[in-house]
Amino acid sequence: VKSAGGALLALVLAFACAPAPVRAQMPKAPASGAAASGPAAVAVDSLDVDSALSKLDAALRWDPLSRIGSIETVRHRIVFRAEAGKSPPAAAIMDGAELIRAAPPYLADGELRFPADFVSAALGAFNRAAEVERSRFRVAAILVDPGHGGRDAGAVGRHVVNGKKLELKEKDVVLDVSRDLFDRLSKTYPDKRILMTRTGDTYPTLEQRVDIANSVSLAENEAILFVSIHANASFNKTARGYEVWYLSPEYRRTVIDAERYADSAEVLPILNAMMEEEFTTESLLIARSIMDNFDRAIGKLSPSRGIKAEEWFVVRNARMPSVLVELGFITNPEDAALLSDSSYLRRQSEAIYSGIKDFITKFERTGGFTAVR
Ligand SMILES: [Zn+2]
Repeated sequence: VKSAGGALLALVLAFACAPAPVRAQMPKAPASGAAASGPAAVAVDSLDVDSALSKLDAALRWDPLSRIGSIETVRHRIVFRAEAGKSPPAAAIMDGAELIRAAPPYLADGELRFPADFVSAALGAFNRAAEVERSRFRVAAILVDPGHGGRDAGAVGRHVVNGKKLELKEKDVVLDVSRDLFDRLSKTYPDKRILMTRTGDTYPTLEQRVDIANSVSLAENEAILFVSIHANASFNKTARGYEVWYLSPEYRRTVIDAERYADSAEVLPILNAMMEEEFTTESLLIARSIMDNFDRAIGKLSPSRGIKAEEWFVVRNARMPSVLVELGFITNPEDAALLSDSSYLRRQSEAIYSGIKDFITKFERTGGFTAVR
């Protein structure tokens, strides 16, 4: 998106449109060697095509007429123009944007030679690009948010289970599940920041929870996941089952830091729309992943009410892919009996954990699902 891209693109076009070089009339090298005296001397510190390509783990496209070649990996390509003889201090360009600051491949006796400096510069450029891609699609932090707490009990259910009186509070159930989820995530991901909005019976306001989420400092292009845990209530005592919510696609936020793109204000809305779309997609994918695991783990005990989209305050104000899990209905006698059973809550926290883990594995392995840029 940088404006320098235009100039570099022009340079690539200049390469492609340049008239045939004067050196085209250079005599063919004698068949019997003695190359050292000719203009096409092979530099000692250069590689032939095969060894250069195997070092770069890339393929070569080469047009002998224009002498324009490109060195291509799955995701990147470096375009160069080869002169005959020792290569001039000209440039090669990666992905139409990044200048490779080393003399490009050249022709010696009709064979392409790759200066060693060029090969290491190209390798460096490929490696830097790979590094950026890895960091772009790394989940750096997970924020677990047990709903309610303190003076806010959330949903409260009073039931008689097996002749015993049972009072169940949402704030306790969701804290129990969240703590176990936190422990599992911390154990599996020692290199990620695993956080909770509350660890005891306290009440952070919704704004405070969102602030915690948004204050996590991330390296460029790192992602943070936000998982809010709740339990449901209804006046209809027969309503029961679990749900996973994700951010509604209709909702639009300013996701991208406007200051960083101050010099390209006109593209900001476009970038924003792209990022927004990405977060929505990711939120839906986490929701699906958690739902699949819930179905497997507790689907026989409590019904699935499916994946839902809504503009929840907590979810929509967090600048990150976010989901909200409803464990079951505190107000339903069967669900309440399950939610008061610690082994059932372990199954639930494990299902949420597995859902997040499945998502992260796919997300990081595929480079954010849409990595080719
Ligand atoms: Zn709640």
